[in-house]
Amino acid sequence: MRLSRTMAMVLAAATLLAGCAGPSTSGGSNGKLTVVTTTTVFADLVSNVGGDLVSVTSIVPKNADVHTFEPRPADVRTVSSAKLLVMNGLGLDDWLSKTITNAAATGTPLLQLGVDLPGVTLLPGETSATENPHLWMDVKYAELYVDRIAQALGSADPPHAATYETQAAAYKQQLETLDAWVRTQVATIPEANRKLVTFHDAFPYYAREYGITIVGVAVEAPGQDPSAGYTAQLITAIKNAGVKAIFSEAQFPTKLVDQLASEANCKVVANLYDDALGDPPTSSYDAVIRWDTTQLVGALS
Ligand SMILES: [Zn+2]
Repeated sequence: MRLSRTMAMVLAAATLLAGCAGPSTSGGSNGKLTVVTTTTVFADLVSNVGGDLVSVTSIVPKNADVHTFEPRPADVRTVSSAKLLVMNGLGLDDWLSKTITNAAATGTPLLQLGVDLPGVTLLPGETSATENPHLWMDVKYAELYVDRIAQALGSADPPHAATYETQAAAYKQQLETLDAWVRTQVATIPEANRKLVTFHDAFPYYAREYGITIVGVAVEAPGQDPSAGYTAQLITAIKNAGVKAIFSEAQFPTKLVDQLASEANCKVVANLYDDALGDPPTSSYDAVIRWDTTQLVGALS
């Protein structure tokens, strides 16, 4: 009697744990490798490399801002369930380290996609002491992320290492096609019009790779209102450069961009996507790059 009651309690506890984890993170029971990423973009890259062998969850939802994100208790449980954690680093999602500590998951392998990436020249970030973290917006750099993901999945799940390599190679082929497509599209924009103003500083690597000039960004750092002096300088720069359009971004409010555009006398173009995926047709990394490029061509040509 006593034994069976203990058994019942153990079973109840196990059910409760499974319930907390939810269907998308129940990797342990369905034989899939449970991977937890900070953003939906990285989750998509992992899904493309891992296919049916992995179960991937993003901590930051698709409509939230990764820069200012504050993890909730549920996120601590999600991190505890991971067999592999994937983040960018370079200041984008450093809040994850605290979540890892809270989840007592310091032994879980942690992949930092953007840190010490060979062959990459980093651009300055918000302050002179930081570097810009948005490397994946250059498709060539996203391919380097894919290499790292394949390696990390293979280490976490050695029996399937060869499959991860094969799937990564196929996905990189797709990204090569994407990269070539972006180049042909940007080439259709008159050279004098290849100037970009966005809400936050997510596009410098894209711009460097595909030959676009960043004239400025509406905020110096996400979550901080720009000073009046900063905005005044930006308006002057926009007017001097003859920028045709300012781009808002999906996970940020449009008010500031609207004000900027009206004062600089140029138009606002519908949302670009960068740190997070959206609903279809922007529900994958490949689709996001295509969407953004199409918006640029449409507004600047
Ligand atoms: Zn960002």
